[in-house]
Amino acid sequence: MEDCIFCKIVAKTVNANIMYEDDNLVVFPDMHPKANTHLLIVPKRHINSLLDLSHSDDALIAHIILQLPKLARQMGAKGFRTIINTGREGGQHVDHLHIHLLAGNLQIAP
Ligand code: AMP
Ligand code: ZN
Repeated sequence: MEDCIFCKIVAKTVNANIMYEDDNLVVFPDMHPKANTHLLIVPKRHINSLLDLSHSDDALIAHIILQLPKLARQMGAKGFRTIINTGREGGQHVDHLHIHLLAGNLQIAP
């Protein structure tokens, strides 16, 4: 997607401090952190939001979810919060599916 900031980060035409990457996803810190650790887990494939998923994405979603505790542990966190804003009404500002992973001194409520 030409004008998608997260696609640009995936393509590395926009800089981000990518701390984990595999065939299916990239992980980098949110530029406006709301906790000591605030990571964004982003599938490489452009998917607008949870509203656009189907069962053909089962493996991808399982892979992303299973990556969360590994990332949290890597950041030294024993617990964490995940947030997936979905659609404008759901507070989503970047229209490329992403999961927020927050840990330590959380500044936002569920
Ligand atoms: P959402 O409201 O769920 O769509 O969240 C989008 C998040 O992406 C916000 O928390 C932004 O701070 C973050 N963000 C947007 N652009 C960038 C970027 N270039 N690098 C890191 N984080 C970003
Ligand atoms: Zn995208």
